[in-house]
Amino acid sequence: MKYYSTNGKAPEVTLSEAVIKGLAPDKGLYMPERIKPLPQSFFDNIENLSLQEIAFEVAKCFFGEDIPEADLKHIVYDTLQFDIPLVKITDRIYSLEIYHGPTAAFKDVGARFMARLLSYFVKQQGTDKEVHVLVATSGDTGSAVANGFLGVPGIKVCVLYPKGKVSEIQEKQFTTLGQNITALEVDGVFDDCQRLVKEAFMDEELNSKYFLTSANSINVARFLPQSFYYFYAYAQFKKQNPGKQPVICVPSGNFGNICSGLFGYRMGLPAKRFIAANNRNDIFYNYLQTGVYEPKASVQTIANAMDVGDPSNFARIYDLYGKSHEAITRDISGATYTDAQIRDTMSSCKAETGYILDPHGACGYQALCDLLGDDEQGIFLETAHPAKFKDVVEPVIGEKVVIPETLQRFMNGTKQSLPMTKQFADFKNFIIANF
Ligand SMILES: *Cc1c(COP(=O)(O)O)cnc(C)c1O
Repeated sequence: MKYYSTNGKAPEVTLSEAVIKGLAPDKGLYMPERIKPLPQSFFDNIENLSLQEIAFEVAKCFFGEDIPEADLKHIVYDTLQFDIPLVKITDRIYSLEIYHGPTAAFKDVGARFMARLLSYFVKQQGTDKEVHVLVATSGDTGSAVANGFLGVPGIKVCVLYPKGKVSEIQEKQFTTLGQNITALEVDGVFDDCQRLVKEAFMDEELNSKYFLTSANSINVARFLPQSFYYFYAYAQFKKQNPGKQPVICVPSGNFGNICSGLFGYRMGLPAKRFIAANNRNDIFYNYLQTGVYEPKASVQTIANAMDVGDPSNFARIYDLYGKSHEAITRDISGATYTDAQIRDTMSSCKAETGYILDPHGACGYQALCDLLGDDEQGIFLETAHPAKFKDVVEPVIGEKVVIPETLQRFMNGTKQSLPMTKQFADFKNFIIANF
C-alpha cells in the first residue's frame, strides 16, 4: 500500500519508507492511500475473538500487502503480550484500561509494534548503518518507545524531554535503562523538544550522514496499531450490550490516539460518535467551536501528557475528513477541563464508584458524564495507570495508589540524562559528536 503526505507536496512512499522516514519531506504526515473496511462477518463474531486475533485481522487491512502474513502475525502477537480490559464503572460508563503494558500507558501498544516493524524492515534492507530513533516526549512516549526498543540490535534511541515537566516516575522509565537508550533533558517545554526533533529530520547534513527516524505518534507504525484496541473495546462492550453502539471518548494531546480510533470508525467500528477530551490545552476544542485552528504555546497541567499546543495529528484528522469542519463536528465533539475540575472528577469518581482515575482518564470520564445523552453509553480510554501520577492522585483521593510491579522496577534505578538547550545548533552538534 502507498502512503501519501498530508501536505501533498511529497512523493508517495511504501510502508517501509513511511516507517523509516517518519515525517514526509514536505513536513506532512503520512496517510495510507486506502482504508479498507472490515467485513460484516468480522463484527458479527467479534465478541468471540481474542485481542490478538482481532488485532491481526485489523493489521492485515493496513499492512497485509506489505508484510507476509506469518511475519505480521508474529509482530502483532509479540506486541500484545498484555490484556486491555474494559471495566464497567457506572451503568453507562466503561473504562478501557490500556495501561497493562510494560510502562503502564497506552503508548506501549504503538511503540512495541513500531520497534518490531522497524527492526523487521532494517533486517530486510540489510543496511550497515545504525538506525537512530529520535523521540520527543511530554512524558509517556519516551518511556514507551525506550522500553519498546530496549536492546533491539542495530537501533539506538535518543529521548528528548522537557526539564522539570515530567513526573519522577515517568522520567525514571527512560533515564534508567542505559544500553541503546540516551535521554536528553531539554531546557524548554515539550513543543521545543518536538521542534528540535522535527528540525533534525529536515536537516540535510544530518540526514546525509546518519540514518535518523522518528518514533513520535506521527509515525504510521505507531498510530495505526492503536486502532486495534478500539475493536477489542467494542468486542467486550458488545458482550454486555448486544446491538448497542458506544460513544468513545479519548483524552487527547497530540491526537494520535483518537485519530487511530477514527481510522477504525472508517473501517466499520460500530461506534456512535467520538469525544476528544482536553485539559486546558484547548486548541482542538476551540477548532470545533469556531472552525479556526489556532496553535498556541502549551500550558502545563496535571494531565501533562496532554500538554500540547499544536497537536501534530490534527493534520491527519483534517485530511481524513476532507478538510471539512462540518464533517469533523458531525463525528467528534470536544470538552476541556481545568486542573481543578480534573481533581474534582478524580475525587468524586472515587467516592461514588470506588474507581481510581489518572488525571488523563479523568478528562475522558468527565466528558462522558457531561456529554452522554440519556439513551447513550460510553467508553473512555484510561490511558495511564493512576500510579504513574500518584503525586497528583494520592492527595486528591486521600489514599495510597498501589504501584504495579512493572513501575516499581524503574523506581529502583538511577537517573542518567544529559542536559540540552532548546537551540537546534546545540542539538545538531550533539548528534555530530555522538552518533
Ligand atoms: C500520550 C498520552 C495522551 C495523549 O495521547 P495523544 O495520542 O497524544 O492524543 C493521553 N494520556 C496519556 C497518559 C498519554 O501518555
